Amino acid sequence: MSRNQTVYNFNPGPATLPKEVMVQAQEEFTDYRGLGYGIVEASHRGEAFKDVLARTEQNVRELLEVPEEYAVLFLQGGASLQFAMVPMNLMMPGRPAVYADTGAWTAKAIKEAKLFGDVEIVFSGKEAGYACIGDPQSWEVRSDASYLYICSNNTIRGTQYHFFPDGGGVPLVADMSSDIMSRPLDIARFGLIFAGAQKNLGPAGVTLVVLRKDLLARTPEGLTAMLRYGTHVEKDSCFNTPPVFAIYMLGLVTDWLKGQGGLAAVERINTVKSQTLYEMIDSTTFYQGTAEAGDRSKMNITFRLPNPELEALFVKEAAENGLIGLKGHRSVGGIRASCYNAMPLAGISCLVDFMTEFEARHG
Ligand SMILES: *Cc1c(COP(=O)(O)O)cnc(C)c1O
Repeated sequence: MSRNQTVYNFNPGPATLPKEVMVQAQEEFTDYRGLGYGIVEASHRGEAFKDVLARTEQNVRELLEVPEEYAVLFLQGGASLQFAMVPMNLMMPGRPAVYADTGAWTAKAIKEAKLFGDVEIVFSGKEAGYACIGDPQSWEVRSDASYLYICSNNTIRGTQYHFFPDGGGVPLVADMSSDIMSRPLDIARFGLIFAGAQKNLGPAGVTLVVLRKDLLARTPEGLTAMLRYGTHVEKDSCFNTPPVFAIYMLGLVTDWLKGQGGLAAVERINTVKSQTLYEMIDSTTFYQGTAEAGDRSKMNITFRLPNPELEALFVKEAAENGLIGLKGHRSVGGIRASCYNAMPLAGISCLVDFMTEFEARHG
């Protein structure tokens, strides 16, 4: 196989961004639209950034079809801070929070929630090696629960919810860090969603939170300002200095998503991309998918080779061919191809060609 000129970045996060976005950011870097200086240097109280923030929020509202009664926030501290902010703000005295444990990220969220109140587990995939999601639509959630918490896409294990549970009157909370804006979403089904930007939305440094505003009434009095959702709603994400450049980049990425035709169009492309890879995996016993077929992720495609030595060689030779970031998470091993929105179909084709050729040499 000839060496690729193009590098395709399959890293799980921070991850590949659309080439057009990178080029635009570069063109505007030292002189933002005639301002004479860059947005990275701009005051968060100035007109230029205010405009960036307003347009970025508008993009999020359009793409996710966010209803009026929801707030859109751009916060710091990563998705991991949300593991704590969610229970701190939404747990009510004497009313347990219900969690579905589908992998390392929910395990961390559960650990944090236990610091603030009782946690019940409605489903655990642990025994099954986190290879599945189970049947979320059949879960019975107690009606007095504070909220029901899920992780929509399990970045490490390569599983994804294709149907969401219905909490009845219990607000559904979702960590969507690794599949946000990869498909259309009915926000009205959720009380709160959050996503660290660095997988599917932009660079690291900003976390998108969308929450139904009536839930703000739950926040206990004594909670510090920075950790209260209400503070950031009141101050339009500018209570303190927001991550100006990361928000600007998220704005460019959401412009790009609109240019792709919105989330329904993006989902169609993601389906083709993931099907192409899964068909390759299923066509041979040399590659073995790790997630149960019905719960496979369209974002993080995980598989194994016959032994760890071959896996290490696969990762090394793939990188030599311009296909980088394919090593599985250190906690599980194997191979993981993260195929977020910005990964072009051409990158998937190159990977499939490489897999065919690698199997021919080592199978
Ligand atoms: C990456 C990831 C996180 C952690 O994000 P940070 O921004 O690093 O805190 C949490 N949840 C999921 C699903 C992730 O993929």
